[in-house]
Amino acid sequence: MAFMDKYDFENLKNAGEEMVVQELGNQLESCPIAICMCNECVLDMAAVALNNIRPLYRVSLLGTLYTATAMDEKTYAVSIKNAVSEAIEKVQKNPSHDIVEESADESGED
Ligand SMILES: [Zn+2]
Repeated sequence: MAFMDKYDFENLKNAGEEMVVQELGNQLESCPIAICMCNECVLDMAAVALNNIRPLYRVSLLGTLYTATAMDEKTYAVSIKNAVSEAIEKVQKNPSHDIVEESADESGED
């Protein structure tokens, strides 16, 4: 039996990921400017943000929750907010796909 199949890694969760996705949703919804929100860009934003925060892995088994305790939750929430807004800006300025003329803003730059 392969190591990977022997253990249930489903229970290994990065709580930071949930927080980033949630924060990303909040920020995109309240964003005043038009931003490409295609699947590609949104996942890019999540990836960029996640790469810039400390992961917060925890194991959740039948209600038991082991959470990294050394981390101050407020500080972590702030770092997520910042990472997400930076990620949105970054991806928006430099999308991984060609900019499709979406009426909103015509940019001559390639
Ligand atoms: Zn896009």
